[in-house]
Amino acid sequence: MIDFDTHYTMTSGGMAVAGRRKLAAWNPATRQIIARVTDATRRQLDEAVDSARIAFGSWSRAPIERRQDLVRRIGEAIERHAEPFMSLLTREQGKPRAGSEWEILGSVAWLKSMATMEVPLEILEDTPGRRVITRHTPLGVVGAIVPWNFPVLLAVWKIAPALLTGNTIVVKPSPFTPLCTLKLGELCRDILPPGVLNVVTGGDRLGKWMTAHPGIDKIAFTGHTDTGRHVMRSAADTLKRVTLELGGNDPAIVLPDVDIEDLAPKLFWAAFQNNAQFCNATKRLYIHESIYERLRDALVAYARTVKVGDGAEADTSIGPIQNEAQYRKVLEFIEDCRTHGYRFALGGQVDRAAAGWFIPITLVDDPPDNSRVVREEPFGPILPLLRWSKESEVIARANDTEYGLGASVWGRDLEAVERIGGQLEAGTVWLNEVHQYSPFQAFGGHKQSGIGCENSLHGLLEYTNHQTITLNKGAIREQEAA
Ligand code: NAD
Repeated sequence: MIDFDTHYTMTSGGMAVAGRRKLAAWNPATRQIIARVTDATRRQLDEAVDSARIAFGSWSRAPIERRQDLVRRIGEAIERHAEPFMSLLTREQGKPRAGSEWEILGSVAWLKSMATMEVPLEILEDTPGRRVITRHTPLGVVGAIVPWNFPVLLAVWKIAPALLTGNTIVVKPSPFTPLCTLKLGELCRDILPPGVLNVVTGGDRLGKWMTAHPGIDKIAFTGHTDTGRHVMRSAADTLKRVTLELGGNDPAIVLPDVDIEDLAPKLFWAAFQNNAQFCNATKRLYIHESIYERLRDALVAYARTVKVGDGAEADTSIGPIQNEAQYRKVLEFIEDCRTHGYRFALGGQVDRAAAGWFIPITLVDDPPDNSRVVREEPFGPILPLLRWSKESEVIARANDTEYGLGASVWGRDLEAVERIGGQLEAGTVWLNEVHQYSPFQAFGGHKQSGIGCENSLHGLLEYTNHQTITLNKGAIREQEAA
């Protein structure tokens, strides 16, 4: 039986590994240290990579049915331990119970669904004289680098496709949320052959070592756009494959014909789910001028009903900011609004003496397009509400960003909704819905929101080489006949 409250050890070569240098893990709702985990040395990383490389030999040759079976069994093991995973996730990440449930049960569903996926074999020609196929071979050792907002799900999005396609993996969780991932590694010791899945913990330097490591063939990274640039630069020296899932500044465009009362809660959660610490959160809300005041007031009224607090308390819907650095960053956005005299429709007053890193839900009333809160990604509960009048202008404003992760359009006139949606530059465009994800749906960013994608067959194949094999069936026969 796994003890989720203590003994957080790394997993390397199927064994528990610890070290003397430690990092603290905090509960963001109380600012208390809840555990100390190993800050891996370079040598410990080398050992994890070596064991992944050794395991790659037989794992890559195992029949796909075996790999599918073991990926499914990881899902089943998480499901059996769902309860302790959820409470640990709330403790280390801060998200309320419902959010932890969504993430843990989502991870289970993802592993089970991805375990049904096949790696395709394309037969391009098969004639009596010749056969040409393209198959997909694994890359080798994958380094997975994960952020703190969805620590389990975003690790699973990398683990499942990597293992299914025959790669082995070294996973590095964020130093802010290492605990659930360490327990996932511990669970996998009884499921997978040693070395197939390794978990190492450490700060950003460990990430840098991974991206430069000659024994790692691909980096699957989720995090900030700036960090993504570092990852790509460092990975270039060994020409590692990279999948980069980066930041977003998603626009939502609201047409004049919506049902305001019905829509306000949906738009609220589009922006504030996971305490707005969501790459795909609505981060700019463009409201048609004819309904601007009414929708703004409905959002304010709804927001007042939502409890911000310790995620461990049953009635909490929004938890704290996950870590102090992020808390300070969100405070800067609020200060910037105040300095420039932008009006808060709600919030803006932070109780800095609160027990945890809490920021109240903050709605900024029509700040200018060049304000920081519109241009940048706060990654916290502060949302600019913006007025629009002309369709062509709102589309241009929505696209006027280096980001291109997600976008949404809301309205009863489906023709207009589709027309506008079709012109948005984003990897996922939701029409009259938001935050709908699936293991079979490609997820990735346009522009500087990323390179490549996760999920779906497209995401799966990012863990493979394309290999074309041509066979001239006649050549030997011709020689024999001669
Ligand atoms: P971050 O970039 O600070 O850290 C992410 C991970 O990278 C951590 O594990 C960190 O230790 C590691 N890291 C830091 N510096 C590194 C370096 N130089 N080389 C290698 N690894 C390094 O991001 P974060 O603050 O943990 O997460 C928030 C960001 O992630 C936001 O910008 C958000 O939009 C983005 N995000 C994107 C997606 C997506 O799918 N597109 C999903 C979730 C979060």
